[in-house]
Amino acid sequence: MLFKVYLTWVLATLSHANNHFYKGHELIRVLPKTNEHLRLIHHFEDNYGVDRWSEVLQVNRDIKMSLPRKQLPKIRKLCKQYGIDMKILNNNLEKLIQSSDDISKQHKTRTRRAIKHFTPPHLVDYLRYDQIVQFLNQQHRRSPTYRNFTSLFSIGTTHENRSIWTIRIGKPTARRNILMDCGIHAREFISPSTCLYMIDKLIEEVNNGRPSLLSVFNIYIIPLLNPDGYEYAQTERRMWRKNRSPNGIHYRSNCMGVDLNRNFGYHWMENGASMNPCSETYAGPHQDSEPETRSLQRFINQSPRSWDAYLTFHSYGQYWIYPWGFALHMPDDYRELNNKAVIGSEALKRVNGTLYKIGSAANLLYESAGGSDDWAKGVGQIKYVYTVELRPSDDMNDAHAHFAFMLPTTFIEPVGQETYAGVKEFLRSLIIPRKSKLLVKNQKTM
Ligand SMILES: [Zn+2]
Repeated sequence: MLFKVYLTWVLATLSHANNHFYKGHELIRVLPKTNEHLRLIHHFEDNYGVDRWSEVLQVNRDIKMSLPRKQLPKIRKLCKQYGIDMKILNNNLEKLIQSSDDISKQHKTRTRRAIKHFTPPHLVDYLRYDQIVQFLNQQHRRSPTYRNFTSLFSIGTTHENRSIWTIRIGKPTARRNILMDCGIHAREFISPSTCLYMIDKLIEEVNNGRPSLLSVFNIYIIPLLNPDGYEYAQTERRMWRKNRSPNGIHYRSNCMGVDLNRNFGYHWMENGASMNPCSETYAGPHQDSEPETRSLQRFINQSPRSWDAYLTFHSYGQYWIYPWGFALHMPDDYRELNNKAVIGSEALKRVNGTLYKIGSAANLLYESAGGSDDWAKGVGQIKYVYTVELRPSDDMNDAHAHFAFMLPTTFIEPVGQETYAGVKEFLRSLIIPRKSKLLVKNQKTM
């Protein structure tokens, strides 16, 4: 046991020593003004090792991208040639990552000093995979008053043989089902931490005798859908986005990994994805090629239950978005999807004043196919499907925008609090219409 604790500590310490890869990486901002400019940015991504950070790719919206310094002259030349406004935001990505880590370290020291108030580790650190598994087991054991109130199981294994753990929380008599996942993209550390926050709070409500939502819903939470990528981002490359599948078999490429959120087989590769294994948005050798993709699909499809909603948490940008992502047209029931997103995001805002934008993925961000959200609605036939892009905002004027994927751990709690409030209000809104229908019915018969 002691050895395990020591090993976890060593691994956690090592996780801060992984930023050297980004020495000499630049962070730039471009402002596309025409569709030709947008196409050129796709060309940068596909051919020059450019990593687009902004989920938005639209005319007259700022786009953040990082790139190896040796590529900068070419990018600068092309931007000048095509009339794209380009600005260097930071010329040493390694330092930028370090400054975020420093704030996290100070946060850890402060919380350790405040011995009187014990702070659980998941609020102080972005936990490693093993720690997350340990956390889930602890949570599973924590609800003593209700038998079978939680269950813990794996929905599949990854290329590196890690289990994709899932926890169910709800009264055994609850008949409706909700699915949430976090951590599809490795570098979005605030996403898994938010799932852990919600798991902890849901079980706390059970133990405090306030499980009202959980009498209606069984909530299934997958806190880390891409554990291989996440561990790689924790230890080797902080900005890693994809999973860790080797691409050599299909393309003889040394570049590893598939973008899981471009791999789902619904209008696959129609828009906004790449066939280049070195691209950050590589869609895979064929649709549904990845073990993580198939595990989630199997779980949605083969479970003898119907799902009321699927929410998938990413960062960053502060968007509460719904399908479709693959094209600009809207699903038939988009008004209902929009209304419920308004309810969720308004409750979220009431906690810390954090503003979210609402709309369809293709309209608000850009057209990109192969996302888990489009698949969940188009193939999985789930009605309420959302991608929630957590903090920070992608508005350059926002005080925290510069943190991007590197939100210091001081944000774990506020982001968890507000997201939990938003999700709960959204879930309540799924119950109320049935009640109000009953009321109307009763009033008519009175
Ligand atoms: Zn993402």
